[in-house]
Amino acid sequence: MGGREVEKLIAVWKGFVARQHEGEGRFMLNPDKERVAMLAQGVLSNGKNHGLGYCPCRMTTNRREEDLKLICPCNFKAQKAWREKGECWCSLFVRAER
Ligand code: SF4
Repeated sequence: MGGREVEKLIAVWKGFVARQHEGEGRFMLNPDKERVAMLAQGVLSNGKNHGLGYCPCRMTTNRREEDLKLICPCNFKAQKAWREKGECWCSLFVRAER
């Protein structure tokens, strides 16, 4: 997966972060740039191999309804990982006030 595609996806994620509403539970991209780039590679390769940009660290189920919930970015604030650790399952997005 080319560096340019990775950069483009990271720019999309930055836009997602910038568009969040004011209030509690604000999040940001993980400051670990290598991790973010690695996750972007994973999402891009899922897009290439499975047709959609699924989460790089969860398994798809082959049930469309379920799998649509795995498209990144997912509804990660509903996850246990967010409640317990303040991070999405893959630590791509992390709580801003840490
Ligand atoms: S857990 Fe994180 S990396 Fe995985 S789909 Fe959700 S937002 Fe994306």
